[in-house]
Amino acid sequence: MKVLFLPGDGIGPEITVATRTVLEQIDHNLSLGLHFTEEGVGFSSLEKHGVTITPDLIERVRNTDMTILGPVDTAHYPPAEQGGINPSAALRIKLDLYANVRPSRAISGLLTLTPSMDLVIVRENTEGFYADRTMFAGTGEVMPTEDLALAMRKVTRGGSYRVAAFAAGLAAKRRKHLTIVHKANVLKLSDGLFLAEAEKAAALQGGLEVRDEHVDAMASLLIRTPDAFDVIVTTNMFGDILSNEAAELAGGLGLSGSLNVGDQNAIAQASHGSAPDIAGQDIANPVSLLLSSVLLLDWKGTQTGRSDLQNAAIKLDAAIIKTLKNPETRTRDLSGNLSCSDFGKAVTDNL
Ligand code: NAD
Repeated sequence: MKVLFLPGDGIGPEITVATRTVLEQIDHNLSLGLHFTEEGVGFSSLEKHGVTITPDLIERVRNTDMTILGPVDTAHYPPAEQGGINPSAALRIKLDLYANVRPSRAISGLLTLTPSMDLVIVRENTEGFYADRTMFAGTGEVMPTEDLALAMRKVTRGGSYRVAAFAAGLAAKRRKHLTIVHKANVLKLSDGLFLAEAEKAAALQGGLEVRDEHVDAMASLLIRTPDAFDVIVTTNMFGDILSNEAAELAGGLGLSGSLNVGDQNAIAQASHGSAPDIAGQDIANPVSLLLSSVLLLDWKGTQTGRSDLQNAAIKLDAAIIKTLKNPETRTRDLSGNLSCSDFGKAVTDNL
Protein backbone atom coordinates (compact mmCIF):
# COMPACT_ATOMS: atom_id res chain seq x y z
CA MET A 1 0.00 0.00 0.00
CA LYS A 2 1.80 3.11 -1.31
CA VAL A 3 1.48 6.39 0.63
CA LEU A 4 2.77 9.52 -1.11
CA PHE A 5 3.40 12.77 0.78
CA LEU A 6 3.39 16.07 -1.12
CA PRO A 7 4.52 18.53 1.59
CA GLY A 8 3.78 21.77 -0.32
CA ASP A 9 4.83 25.25 0.82
CA GLY A 10 5.14 27.29 4.02
CA ILE A 11 4.22 25.15 7.05
CA GLY A 12 3.49 22.21 4.71
CA PRO A 13 6.84 20.40 5.26
CA GLU A 14 6.55 20.79 9.07
CA ILE A 15 3.01 19.42 9.38
CA THR A 16 3.93 16.67 6.90
CA VAL A 17 6.86 15.48 9.05
CA ALA A 18 4.57 15.36 12.11
CA THR A 19 1.89 13.46 10.15
CA ARG A 20 4.43 11.02 8.71
CA THR A 21 5.85 10.28 12.18
CA VAL A 22 2.37 9.40 13.41
CA LEU A 23 1.47 7.28 10.36
CA GLU A 24 4.77 5.36 10.58
CA GLN A 25 3.90 4.52 14.18
CA ILE A 26 0.40 3.28 13.40
CA ASP A 27 1.76 1.31 10.43
CA HIS A 28 4.23 -0.33 12.84
CA ASN A 29 1.62 -0.93 15.59
CA LEU A 30 -0.95 -2.52 13.28
CA SER A 31 1.38 -4.04 10.62
CA LEU A 32 -0.52 -2.25 7.86
CA GLY A 33 2.22 -2.68 5.25
CA LEU A 34 2.38 1.00 4.27
CA HIS A 35 5.29 2.21 2.10
CA PHE A 36 5.98 5.92 2.42
CA THR A 37 7.49 8.19 -0.24
CA GLU A 38 7.64 11.95 -0.72
CA GLU A 39 7.73 14.31 -3.71
CA GLY A 40 7.89 18.10 -3.98
CA VAL A 41 5.02 20.29 -5.16
CA GLY A 42 4.89 24.07 -5.06
CA PHE A 43 8.05 26.19 -4.84
CA SER A 44 10.36 23.16 -4.45
CA SER A 45 9.01 21.74 -7.72
CA LEU A 46 9.18 25.15 -9.42
CA GLU A 47 12.89 25.34 -8.56
CA LYS A 48 13.60 21.80 -9.73
CA HIS A 49 11.28 21.41 -12.74
CA GLY A 50 10.20 24.97 -13.62
CA VAL A 51 6.60 24.19 -12.72
CA THR A 52 4.80 23.85 -9.36
CA ILE A 53 3.42 20.41 -10.28
CA THR A 54 4.54 18.20 -13.17
CA PRO A 55 2.22 16.08 -15.36
CA ASP A 56 4.33 13.04 -14.32
CA LEU A 57 3.57 13.66 -10.67
CA ILE A 58 -0.17 13.91 -11.35
CA GLU A 59 0.02 10.47 -13.02
CA ARG A 60 2.02 9.13 -10.08
CA VAL A 61 -0.69 10.33 -7.68
CA ARG A 62 -3.30 8.61 -9.86
CA ASN A 63 -1.45 5.32 -9.39
CA THR A 64 -0.72 5.75 -5.69
CA ASP A 65 -2.97 4.18 -3.08
CA MET A 66 -3.05 7.14 -0.69
CA THR A 67 -1.79 10.71 -1.20
CA ILE A 68 -1.40 13.34 1.52
CA LEU A 69 -1.07 16.92 0.29
CA GLY A 70 0.17 19.85 2.37
CA PRO A 71 -0.99 23.45 1.78
CA VAL A 72 0.32 25.40 -1.20
CA ASP A 73 1.14 29.11 -1.34
CA THR A 74 -0.76 29.89 -4.55
CA ALA A 75 -1.02 33.61 -3.77
CA HIS A 76 2.73 33.95 -4.32
CA TYR A 77 3.10 31.73 -7.39
CA PRO A 78 4.16 33.30 -10.70
CA PRO A 79 1.60 33.26 -13.56
CA ALA A 80 0.75 29.87 -15.07
CA GLU A 81 2.85 30.66 -18.18
CA GLN A 82 5.86 30.84 -15.82
CA GLY A 83 5.07 27.55 -14.10
CA GLY A 84 2.78 28.75 -11.31
CA ILE A 85 0.02 26.14 -11.49
CA ASN A 86 -2.24 25.56 -8.47
CA PRO A 87 -1.29 21.94 -7.56
CA SER A 88 -4.42 21.47 -5.51
CA ALA A 89 -6.74 22.53 -8.37
CA ALA A 90 -4.72 20.55 -10.95
CA LEU A 91 -5.03 17.34 -8.92
CA ARG A 92 -8.73 17.86 -8.22
CA ILE A 93 -9.50 18.38 -11.90
CA LYS A 94 -7.16 15.82 -13.51
CA LEU A 95 -8.17 13.06 -11.07
CA ASP A 96 -11.80 14.21 -11.07
CA LEU A 97 -11.95 14.50 -7.27
CA TYR A 98 -15.44 15.95 -7.34
CA ALA A 99 -16.36 15.87 -3.66
CA ASN A 100 -14.50 17.79 -0.97
CA VAL A 101 -15.46 16.31 2.39
CA ARG A 102 -14.99 18.70 5.32
CA PRO A 103 -16.18 17.56 8.76
CA SER A 104 -16.55 20.03 11.64
CA ARG A 105 -16.90 18.43 15.03
CA ALA A 106 -16.61 20.21 18.37
CA ILE A 107 -14.15 18.55 20.75
CA SER A 108 -15.18 18.74 24.39
CA GLY A 109 -12.62 20.51 26.57
CA LEU A 110 -11.43 22.74 23.73
CA LEU A 111 -12.65 26.28 23.18
CA THR A 112 -15.65 25.95 20.89
CA LEU A 113 -18.60 28.21 20.20
CA THR A 114 -20.78 25.21 19.37
CA PRO A 115 -20.27 22.33 21.85
CA SER A 116 -22.72 20.01 20.10
CA MET A 117 -21.70 20.61 16.49
CA ASP A 118 -20.99 17.46 14.48
CA LEU A 119 -21.54 18.01 10.78
CA VAL A 120 -19.90 17.38 7.40
CA ILE A 121 -19.88 19.84 4.54
CA VAL A 122 -19.62 18.19 1.12
CA ARG A 123 -18.43 20.80 -1.34
CA GLU A 124 -18.52 20.40 -5.12
CA ASN A 125 -14.86 20.48 -6.10
CA THR A 126 -14.47 20.66 -9.88
CA GLU A 127 -16.64 23.53 -11.17
CA GLY A 128 -18.52 26.50 -9.62
CA PHE A 129 -17.08 30.00 -9.31
CA TYR A 130 -13.41 29.13 -9.74
CA ALA A 131 -11.95 30.73 -12.85
CA ASP A 132 -9.45 27.89 -13.34
CA ARG A 133 -12.25 25.30 -13.44
CA THR A 134 -14.89 26.79 -15.72
CA MET A 135 -13.34 26.75 -19.21
CA PHE A 136 -12.06 24.09 -21.61
CA ALA A 137 -9.39 26.62 -22.64
CA GLY A 138 -8.58 29.99 -21.14
CA THR A 139 -9.88 31.32 -17.87
CA GLY A 140 -13.35 32.11 -16.59
CA GLU A 141 -12.33 35.62 -15.58
CA VAL A 142 -12.07 38.39 -18.18
CA MET A 143 -11.65 42.18 -18.17
CA PRO A 144 -13.34 43.61 -21.27
CA THR A 145 -12.30 47.13 -20.22
CA GLU A 146 -10.02 48.43 -17.47
CA ASP A 147 -13.11 49.29 -15.40
CA LEU A 148 -15.04 46.06 -15.86
CA ALA A 149 -14.20 42.55 -14.63
CA LEU A 150 -16.42 39.52 -15.28
CA ALA A 151 -16.27 36.05 -13.75
CA MET A 152 -18.20 33.03 -14.98
CA ARG A 153 -19.64 30.32 -12.77
CA LYS A 154 -20.11 26.79 -14.08
CA VAL A 155 -22.83 24.45 -12.80
CA THR A 156 -23.50 21.21 -14.68
CA ARG A 157 -26.31 18.70 -14.29
CA GLY A 158 -23.88 15.78 -13.95
CA GLY A 159 -21.51 17.61 -11.58
CA SER A 160 -24.41 18.61 -9.32
CA TYR A 161 -25.98 15.16 -9.31
CA ARG A 162 -22.83 13.21 -8.52
CA VAL A 163 -21.72 15.37 -5.60
CA ALA A 164 -25.26 15.31 -4.15
CA ALA A 165 -25.42 11.52 -4.57
CA PHE A 166 -22.11 11.26 -2.70
CA ALA A 167 -23.42 13.51 0.10
CA ALA A 168 -26.71 11.58 0.29
CA GLY A 169 -24.74 8.31 0.62
CA LEU A 170 -22.73 9.83 3.43
CA ALA A 171 -25.87 11.11 5.20
CA ALA A 172 -27.37 7.61 4.97
CA LYS A 173 -24.39 6.31 6.99
CA ARG A 174 -24.68 9.11 9.57
CA ARG A 175 -27.80 10.73 11.08
CA LYS A 176 -29.77 10.54 7.80
CA HIS A 177 -30.21 14.27 7.43
CA LEU A 178 -29.18 16.19 4.30
CA THR A 179 -29.26 19.97 3.80
CA ILE A 180 -28.88 21.34 0.26
CA VAL A 181 -27.43 24.86 0.27
CA HIS A 182 -27.92 27.15 -2.75
CA LYS A 183 -29.00 30.60 -3.90
CA ALA A 184 -31.72 29.51 -6.33
CA ASN A 185 -33.92 32.44 -5.34
CA VAL A 186 -31.55 34.72 -7.31
CA LEU A 187 -29.41 32.40 -9.45
CA LYS A 188 -32.49 30.68 -10.78
CA LEU A 189 -30.83 28.83 -13.65
CA SER A 190 -27.46 27.80 -12.20
CA ASP A 191 -28.40 27.20 -8.56
CA GLY A 192 -31.84 26.09 -9.71
CA LEU A 193 -30.11 23.31 -11.67
CA PHE A 194 -27.95 22.39 -8.67
CA LEU A 195 -30.98 22.26 -6.35
CA ALA A 196 -33.07 20.16 -8.74
CA GLU A 197 -30.28 17.61 -9.28
CA ALA A 198 -29.47 17.48 -5.56
CA GLU A 199 -33.12 16.82 -4.71
CA LYS A 200 -33.22 14.06 -7.34
CA ALA A 201 -30.09 12.40 -5.92
CA ALA A 202 -31.39 12.67 -2.34
CA ALA A 203 -34.75 11.13 -3.28
CA LEU A 204 -33.04 8.20 -5.01
CA GLN A 205 -30.97 7.48 -1.91
CA GLY A 206 -34.19 7.21 0.09
CA GLY A 207 -34.69 7.23 3.86
CA LEU A 208 -33.25 10.73 4.32
CA GLU A 209 -34.75 13.83 5.84
CA VAL A 210 -33.93 16.50 3.26
CA ARG A 211 -34.16 20.28 3.56
CA ASP A 212 -32.73 23.15 1.58
CA GLU A 213 -31.48 26.57 2.65
CA HIS A 214 -30.34 29.74 0.90
CA VAL A 215 -26.63 30.24 1.47
CA ASP A 216 -27.03 33.58 3.24
CA ALA A 217 -29.59 32.10 5.66
CA MET A 218 -27.27 29.13 6.13
CA ALA A 219 -24.43 31.40 7.26
CA SER A 220 -26.68 32.52 10.14
CA LEU A 221 -28.16 29.12 10.87
CA LEU A 222 -24.71 27.56 11.28
CA ILE A 223 -24.17 29.94 14.19
CA ARG A 224 -27.72 29.85 15.57
CA THR A 225 -28.52 26.13 15.37
CA PRO A 226 -25.35 24.22 14.41
CA ASP A 227 -26.59 20.94 15.89
CA ALA A 228 -29.56 20.97 13.49
CA PHE A 229 -27.22 19.89 10.67
CA ASP A 230 -25.71 16.55 9.73
CA VAL A 231 -24.52 16.49 6.09
CA ILE A 232 -24.59 19.69 4.02
CA VAL A 233 -24.05 19.68 0.25
CA THR A 234 -23.35 22.80 -1.76
CA THR A 235 -21.50 24.31 -4.71
CA ASN A 236 -17.77 24.98 -4.71
CA MET A 237 -17.35 28.52 -3.36
CA PHE A 238 -20.33 28.42 -0.98
CA GLY A 239 -18.82 25.23 0.47
CA ASP A 240 -15.37 26.77 0.75
CA ILE A 241 -16.70 29.71 2.75
CA LEU A 242 -19.22 27.82 4.91
CA SER A 243 -16.69 25.11 5.79
CA ASN A 244 -14.26 27.71 7.14
CA GLU A 245 -17.10 29.21 9.19
CA ALA A 246 -18.05 25.79 10.54
CA ALA A 247 -14.41 24.90 11.31
CA GLU A 248 -13.90 28.11 13.23
CA LEU A 249 -17.14 27.59 15.19
CA ALA A 250 -16.05 24.07 16.11
CA GLY A 251 -12.69 25.20 17.49
CA GLY A 252 -10.47 26.58 14.73
CA LEU A 253 -9.37 26.18 11.14
CA GLY A 254 -6.32 24.20 12.21
CA LEU A 255 -8.58 21.47 13.65
CA SER A 256 -10.61 20.42 10.64
CA GLY A 257 -9.71 17.65 8.20
CA SER A 258 -10.42 17.65 4.49
CA LEU A 259 -10.58 14.87 1.89
CA ASN A 260 -10.86 15.27 -1.89
CA VAL A 261 -12.73 12.25 -3.24
CA GLY A 262 -13.44 10.86 -6.70
CA ASP A 263 -14.59 7.47 -7.90
CA GLN A 264 -11.03 6.08 -8.08
CA ASN A 265 -8.77 8.35 -6.03
CA ALA A 266 -8.79 10.41 -2.86
CA ILE A 267 -6.32 12.97 -1.51
CA ALA A 268 -6.05 14.07 2.11
CA GLN A 269 -5.38 17.79 2.31
CA ALA A 270 -5.05 20.27 5.17
CA SER A 271 -8.01 22.62 5.05
CA HIS A 272 -5.94 25.71 5.93
CA GLY A 273 -3.35 27.53 3.83
CA SER A 274 0.47 27.56 3.90
CA ALA A 275 0.58 30.10 6.79
CA PRO A 276 3.72 31.93 5.58
CA ASP A 277 3.61 34.09 8.73
CA ILE A 278 4.62 31.14 10.96
CA ALA A 279 6.50 28.92 8.45
CA GLY A 280 9.86 27.45 9.47
CA GLN A 281 9.31 27.95 13.22
CA ASP A 282 7.98 24.48 14.10
CA ILE A 283 4.93 26.04 15.79
CA ALA A 284 2.13 25.10 13.34
CA ASN A 285 -0.70 22.84 14.43
CA PRO A 286 -0.62 19.61 12.36
CA VAL A 287 -4.11 18.45 13.42
CA SER A 288 -5.85 19.37 10.16
CA LEU A 289 -3.49 17.18 8.11
CA LEU A 290 -3.65 14.42 10.72
CA LEU A 291 -7.48 14.39 10.72
CA SER A 292 -7.41 14.48 6.89
CA SER A 293 -5.24 11.34 7.07
CA VAL A 294 -7.89 9.72 9.30
CA LEU A 295 -10.47 10.40 6.56
CA LEU A 296 -8.11 8.95 3.94
CA LEU A 297 -7.40 5.74 5.90
CA ASP A 298 -11.14 5.24 6.39
CA TRP A 299 -11.87 5.90 2.68
CA LYS A 300 -9.14 3.47 1.55
CA GLY A 301 -10.33 0.85 4.04
CA THR A 302 -13.89 1.13 2.73
CA GLN A 303 -12.76 1.13 -0.92
CA THR A 304 -10.59 -1.96 -0.53
CA GLY A 305 -12.58 -3.79 2.16
CA ARG A 306 -9.55 -3.64 4.47
CA SER A 307 -10.95 -3.41 7.98
CA ASP A 308 -7.42 -2.94 9.40
CA LEU A 309 -7.21 0.44 7.64
CA GLN A 310 -10.63 1.44 9.01
CA ASN A 311 -9.48 0.30 12.45
CA ALA A 312 -6.32 2.40 12.03
CA ALA A 313 -8.52 5.43 11.23
CA ILE A 314 -10.52 4.92 14.45
CA LYS A 315 -7.38 4.48 16.58
CA LEU A 316 -5.64 7.48 15.01
CA ASP A 317 -8.70 9.68 15.51
CA ALA A 318 -8.91 8.65 19.17
CA ALA A 319 -5.20 9.38 19.72
CA ILE A 320 -5.51 12.86 18.15
CA ILE A 321 -8.56 13.70 20.27
CA LYS A 322 -6.89 12.39 23.44
CA THR A 323 -3.82 14.55 22.73
CA LEU A 324 -5.98 17.63 22.08
CA LYS A 325 -8.01 17.14 25.26
CA ASN A 326 -4.89 17.33 27.43
CA PRO A 327 -4.00 21.03 27.95
CA GLU A 328 -0.33 19.94 28.37
CA THR A 329 -0.18 18.57 24.84
CA ARG A 330 -1.47 21.40 22.68
CA THR A 331 0.20 23.69 20.17
CA ARG A 332 0.47 27.46 20.56
CA ASP A 333 -2.64 28.33 18.54
CA LEU A 334 -4.62 26.44 21.23
CA SER A 335 -2.79 28.24 24.06
CA GLY A 336 -0.40 25.29 24.54
CA ASN A 337 3.40 25.06 24.50
CA LEU A 338 4.12 22.12 22.20
CA SER A 339 5.97 22.52 18.93
CA CYS A 340 4.55 20.97 15.77
CA SER A 341 6.99 18.05 15.93
CA ASP A 342 6.40 17.48 19.67
CA PHE A 343 2.65 17.38 19.05
CA GLY A 344 3.31 14.61 16.50
CA LYS A 345 5.33 12.72 19.13
CA ALA A 346 2.53 13.20 21.70
CA VAL A 347 -0.01 11.66 19.29
CA THR A 348 2.46 8.83 18.64
CA ASP A 349 2.73 8.21 22.41
CA ASN A 350 -1.07 8.14 22.71
CA LEU A 351 -1.31 5.59 19.89
P1 NAD B 1 -3.76 30.52 5.98
O1 NAD B 1 -4.73 29.47 6.29
O2 NAD B 1 -2.44 30.08 5.45
O3 NAD B 1 -3.47 31.39 7.30
C1 NAD B 1 -4.48 32.12 8.01
C2 NAD B 1 -4.05 32.29 9.47
O4 NAD B 1 -4.18 31.02 10.14
C3 NAD B 1 -2.58 32.69 9.65
O5 NAD B 1 -2.47 33.55 10.74
C4 NAD B 1 -1.87 31.39 9.93
O6 NAD B 1 -0.69 31.54 10.71
C5 NAD B 1 -2.93 30.61 10.69
N1 NAD B 1 -2.82 29.16 10.46
C6 NAD B 1 -3.16 28.47 9.33
N2 NAD B 1 -2.90 27.18 9.48
C7 NAD B 1 -2.41 27.02 10.72
C8 NAD B 1 -1.94 25.89 11.45
N3 NAD B 1 -1.96 24.65 10.95
N4 NAD B 1 -1.45 26.09 12.71
C9 NAD B 1 -1.45 27.32 13.25
N5 NAD B 1 -1.88 28.43 12.60
C10 NAD B 1 -2.34 28.28 11.36
O7 NAD B 1 -4.47 31.54 4.97
P2 NAD B 1 -3.86 32.74 4.10
O8 NAD B 1 -2.84 33.48 4.92
O9 NAD B 1 -5.04 33.43 3.57
O10 NAD B 1 -3.14 32.04 2.87
C11 NAD B 1 -1.72 31.77 2.81
C12 NAD B 1 -1.44 31.03 1.51
O11 NAD B 1 -2.10 29.75 1.52
C13 NAD B 1 -1.96 31.74 0.25
O12 NAD B 1 -1.01 31.59 -0.77
C14 NAD B 1 -3.24 31.02 -0.10
O13 NAD B 1 -3.54 31.07 -1.47
C15 NAD B 1 -2.87 29.60 0.32
N6 NAD B 1 -4.00 28.70 0.62
C16 NAD B 1 -3.84 27.39 0.27
C17 NAD B 1 -4.81 26.47 0.58
C18 NAD B 1 -4.56 25.04 0.22
O14 NAD B 1 -3.45 24.67 -0.14
N7 NAD B 1 -5.53 24.17 0.32
C19 NAD B 1 -5.97 26.86 1.25
C20 NAD B 1 -6.12 28.21 1.63
C21 NAD B 1 -5.11 29.13 1.31
